[in-house]
Amino acid sequence: MALREIRTHPDPVLREPAKKVPLIDMSVQRLIDDMIDTMRAVSGVGLAAPQVGVPLRVAVIELPGEDVIALINPVLIKKKGERIIEEGCLSVPGYRGQVKRAVTVKVKARDRDGREFRITATDDVLAQALEHELDHLEGRLYTDLVESPESLWRAEDTGDG
Ligand code: ZN
Repeated sequence: MALREIRTHPDPVLREPAKKVPLIDMSVQRLIDDMIDTMRAVSGVGLAAPQVGVPLRVAVIELPGEDVIALINPVLIKKKGERIIEEGCLSVPGYRGQVKRAVTVKVKARDRDGREFRITATDDVLAQALEHELDHLEGRLYTDLVESPESLWRAEDTGDG
């Protein structure tokens, strides 16, 4: 087990579109394990590789009571609907905000063994986490989606991904 340092805004790695993983090898497996350990250490629900300084298309999500999901080269297949929800980010400590997210999100990705899988989430934290982590892989932060200054506020518990 190894913890990696979580990069915070304005670290430029957070703004770089991440590169596709060319080969799922030991280094990618180790990255996923370290990301899971790091996410758990800070009680996050998700973490994307750029948040630990690695510009690769890898993300992990773990909702309370659910199995951890590792996503390699995830692609957003479909999103539908709109809802306004509250969000925070481990890379933007000290803030929370209100953003517009999709209701239904469908993603395909490869798992740590290289097998393709699909996830569909509707109107729940998983749908939000999928969009949030996929945004990280494009170099986007949730604060980019905040529509007005009143929709971003200081908060002790930043949480999330
Ligand atoms: Zn985040």
